Amino acid sequence: MATLEIRDLVVSVEGQIILNGINLCVHSGETHAIMGPNGTGKSTLAQIVMGHPKYRVESGDMLLNGESILAMPVDERSRKGLFLAMQNPIEVPGVTNFDFVRSAVASRLEKGNHLRIGKFILQFEDTAKKLDMGTNLAHRYLNQGFSGGEKKRNEILQMALIKPSIAFLDEIDSGLDVDALKIVGENVTRMKSDHLGLILITHYQRLLDYIVPDFVHIMIKGNIVRSGGRDLIEKIDHEGYDWLKNELGIDELEEHKPQVSIGICAQGAPRREGI
Ligand code: ADP
Ligand code: MG
Repeated sequence: MATLEIRDLVVSVEGQIILNGINLCVHSGETHAIMGPNGTGKSTLAQIVMGHPKYRVESGDMLLNGESILAMPVDERSRKGLFLAMQNPIEVPGVTNFDFVRSAVASRLEKGNHLRIGKFILQFEDTAKKLDMGTNLAHRYLNQGFSGGEKKRNEILQMALIKPSIAFLDEIDSGLDVDALKIVGENVTRMKSDHLGLILITHYQRLLDYIVPDFVHIMIKGNIVRSGGRDLIEKIDHEGYDWLKNELGIDELEEHKPQVSIGICAQGAPRREGI
């Protein structure tokens, strides 16, 4: 079982505050959705949890299973169980897909254990097939020349093989046509288990029809301003975010202060009820 706890997190990029006091608690077994307008800090949250060097923690903390990850490099965060399916996966010429995932999986094994390569090849092929990826996938360079949809499916392939305990999927639906969305949705839903906590970042209801969340959070201007159940998704789909901005008195031009504090995972604290 894993728990990711984000406490009063303030994050800047290039001297500008982007996240303004985020609180979030995700346990394995739960699926959370984070929705919000463009440029509101959703990707920044995913990147800072994974340890992107461009983003700077000004204050607050991030804990994985009670241990602060602030000082951990990216690879250690990965070995501890964190994963990020990137909004814009990068192309890495010269490194094959297979070598990339194999290295990632091998580096997460306990000391003294070795990857059984034959078994791993079969797992790779089986996972690629379930994601409807081309047969030559293993030998192609990582994401090079991939379509937007292929890059997104490739992130899911990595996740399926790396088997993280807490995974952020950042706009995994963007660039996917309806058929690809269905395939990604089915594959991610199949991965849901008591050992995986999922955080889905998305603009659209359609992804959340396929991967059903237990909790929904709305982020506006660097803050989670509302948390609730699935009813929030439909409201956003029909009405956008203006009703919430009006309700909370958020001015586009003014710095926004935290409105609510949710999901602190202090031991013994009551959990919010899912739906
Ligand atoms: P979202 O994912 O919600 O669309 P982002 O987290 O990508 O939002 O961006 C939040 C804000 O931070 C935006 O105003 C964006 O311009 C700024 N930002 C994000 N990354 C960088 C960066 N690497 N350099 C400069 N500004 C950035
Ligand atoms: Mg984004």
